[in-house]
Amino acid sequence: MTESGEEMYALVERMYPLCRSITGDGVRATLRIVDEYIPLHVHEVPTGTQVLDWTVPKEWNVRDAYVADAAGRRVVDFAASSLHVLGYSVPVSATMSLAELREHLHTLPEQPSLVPYRTSYYEERWGFCLAQRTLDAMAEGDYEVRIDSTLADGHLTYAEHVVPGRVPDEVLVSCHVCHPSLANDNLAGIAVAVFLARALAEQNPYYTYRFVFAPGTIGAITWLARNRERVERVKHGLVLACAGDPGDLTYKQSRRGDAEIDRVLRHVLDASGRPHRITEFTPYGYDERQYCSPGFDLGVGSLTRTPYAGYPEYHTSADDLDFVSPAAMADTLAVCREAFSLLDRNRRYVNLSPYGEPQLGRRGLYGSLGGRSDAKEAQMAMLWVLSLSDGTHALLDVAERSGLPFDTVAAAADALHGAGLIKA
Ligand code: ZN
Repeated sequence: MTESGEEMYALVERMYPLCRSITGDGVRATLRIVDEYIPLHVHEVPTGTQVLDWTVPKEWNVRDAYVADAAGRRVVDFAASSLHVLGYSVPVSATMSLAELREHLHTLPEQPSLVPYRTSYYEERWGFCLAQRTLDAMAEGDYEVRIDSTLADGHLTYAEHVVPGRVPDEVLVSCHVCHPSLANDNLAGIAVAVFLARALAEQNPYYTYRFVFAPGTIGAITWLARNRERVERVKHGLVLACAGDPGDLTYKQSRRGDAEIDRVLRHVLDASGRPHRITEFTPYGYDERQYCSPGFDLGVGSLTRTPYAGYPEYHTSADDLDFVSPAAMADTLAVCREAFSLLDRNRRYVNLSPYGEPQLGRRGLYGSLGGRSDAKEAQMAMLWVLSLSDGTHALLDVAERSGLPFDTVAAAADALHGAGLIKA
C-alpha cells in the first residue's frame, strides 16, 4: 500500500506542471500519461455540440504568457506556473500602464504570498493571476503584456476506462481533469482512480467498473448527454476529488441519501475506526451535482479528504506537491478498495430451506469450523444469513443487524451457497 502511495505521488508529480483547462492540449497530455497506467478510450466532442442544456465551448490552448517590466524582466510568467494565466484568456499583445493592467490582475489580498486559480470560461476576457506580494512590488510605469493563446473551434476531450465485470450493471467512478497546476484538486483524485482501476482489474469483479476522466461540469454533462441509455445500467457511483490532503476522509452522500453506495461508505468508514465525516448531499461541489440531478438521480456519492473549498490552500498555488502525500493517497485508495470490495459482494440471497433451521452439522458446516477460534462468530454469521435471506435483505443488512463484520457475513454466505442452502 505504501508502494502505491509512492507510485500515485509520482503520477501526480508528472501531471502537475501541465496547463489543463476544460478543453485543450493540457487535458490530452494528462490523459496520455494516464493511458500509460490504464488504457483509455479518449473521446473528442466538437465545439458547438449541444449537450443537455449546454453547448461544448471553443477549445483553448496557451503557449506562453507573461507580464514584463520596462527592463524586459518577466514579473509574471506562465512558464513558472500554469496558474499565472487566467484560464480561457483570449490573446493579448500590448504595452500598458500598471493602472490599466490592474483590472486584469487577480490576487488574494488575504493570502498575499499565494497565486489564485481563476478562470473565465463563458465570458471572453484576459487576465493574469499573481501573488499580492508580487503586485505590491511592481513599480508604476509601462508593462509589456502578452498572452499567446488560441480560443477557437476544436474539441472537448474526455476519457473512459472500463474494468469488465461478471454482470453488465455498472459502477461509475468519475473525476475531473480540468484544473491546471493544483495537486489535491484534482490530480490526487485522478491518481487514486488510476490505482483503484488497476486493483479492481486483478479481482474479477462482479460489477463492471467505468472510470470517467472528464473536465468538471461540462465534461460530466457531455458524458451524461452521450450516455443517456447507459445511465440505466449505472447502479452505483463515486466522484473522487481532493484525495491527497492531510485532512480526514469525508463522504458526501448521494442526493437520495439512502442509496446502496451511501450505506456502503458509511459502513466502511465507521468500521474502519478512522476519524471521518459523513455529510448530506448539496447541489454544489463536484460532478455529483450532475449525476444526482433529478432526471438522472443516480446513486452517486462523493469521497474527498477535506471537502470542496474546505481548506485555505484550495484553488491557490499552495495546493502544490507539498500539500499532498503518498500516505494520504494510499489511505484514500484503501477506503475505496474496501468500499468497492464490500459493494461488489453485497448480494441478496434466498434461504432454500426456510422452514425451521437447516441442519448445518449434517452438511459439514459446523465440523469444518471446529478448530477455528472464530468458530462461534462464523456460526452466528451463518444463522443470521439464513434468518435474513428472504430476498429483501442484502449481506450489508445482515452485517449491520447482527453487528458482525461484513467479511465474516460474506464468508458465511459463501459457505451456505456452497452447501446449496441459499441462492442469489
Ligand atoms: Zn476545483
